[in-house]
Amino acid sequence: MILNNVTTLTGEGPVNIQIKNGKIIPVSGPATDAVQLTFDNALIFPGLVNSHDHLDFNLFPQLGDRIYNNYTEWGAYIHENYKEEISAVLKVPLTLRTSWGIFKNLLCGVTTVVNHGERLIINNPLINVEQYHSLHSVKFEKSWKIKLNNPLKRKLPVVIHVGEGSDRQSEQEIDELINWNLLNKKLIGVHGVAMTEKQAQKFEALIWCPASNYFLLNKTASADQLKNHTDILFGTDSTLTGNWNIWEHIRLARKTKMLTDNELYNSLQLNAAVTQTAANNKPAFVVAKKRKWETPFESFFSTDPADILLVVHDEHIRLFDEAMLGQLTGMDIREFSKIYINGACKYVQGDLPGLMKQVKEYYPEVIFPITSN
Ligand SMILES: [Zn+2]
Repeated sequence: MILNNVTTLTGEGPVNIQIKNGKIIPVSGPATDAVQLTFDNALIFPGLVNSHDHLDFNLFPQLGDRIYNNYTEWGAYIHENYKEEISAVLKVPLTLRTSWGIFKNLLCGVTTVVNHGERLIINNPLINVEQYHSLHSVKFEKSWKIKLNNPLKRKLPVVIHVGEGSDRQSEQEIDELINWNLLNKKLIGVHGVAMTEKQAQKFEALIWCPASNYFLLNKTASADQLKNHTDILFGTDSTLTGNWNIWEHIRLARKTKMLTDNELYNSLQLNAAVTQTAANNKPAFVVAKKRKWETPFESFFSTDPADILLVVHDEHIRLFDEAMLGQLTGMDIREFSKIYINGACKYVQGDLPGLMKQVKEYYPEVIFPITSN
């Protein structure tokens, strides 16, 4: 596949590049590739990694209407006050909810997502889906001490929500987890809002979900300090606590100035500690509109789903903007469906309108962030 006239994040360009064996290489000599696309003011970057989501929870609206001290308080509150909303969403079969979770990520240019919770069965996903040994949390996972110390899973890292709160209890919970890690397994903490620098040293990585944290707690992890002791990865969590659009989460994170632009970008990429173990991940690239007056990096951070022109995963086009249609005459587009994001028309692999229709049959009140006509 050849992509002409694209700018890289390091400012190279516009250049003509070739995607070959999962790598971006300069075009040399006459090209014979079947797919050749020429862009105008476009930026290319590797697909984003969302290190924390619950794929099956993305049909929920944000639930909660005040600031909570910790996740247990929030959990009890939503089960008490949003009973109907919760049961309405759970009427949708798991496979449909999971499919929407995958599309939610793909539409944003996320091509690797780490799913938290029970292992979901997903056939031929359009993006990489990673599922680790995950425990919910110290308070909500039954027999967590036994599961954490399961000798059969000794070598596997454990991903767990931890320190999701602004109170003393949340900080103590992190010590409890560390003290009970008897086999010295690699711990990957999610949230860590109450995490201290000393505690961070015991974690292989911290998955930072600032938008979810601000919504629940009006506070987030001290990523500016914790980054000196552990790897920071970026996560959105589900729409129960945040917007469907990861780019809004990224801009919120950037506003805190806790990470440099480079660090923030790296927290969204595959070089991070958790994903290093995922040797089966297929390489993926995104091409998005570049704002003429912005540097490539500035333009990257201004991106929104409507700006995405192309998503390539495993050397297959998964999504493209309507503007590219005229150049894709050789491609069979029958397996693509047409959707609109803020009026921008995209073609996405699979039957997304069909999925939306099916979801509506179980959950008529659903509001999707996209439309199909
Ligand atoms: Zn979570």
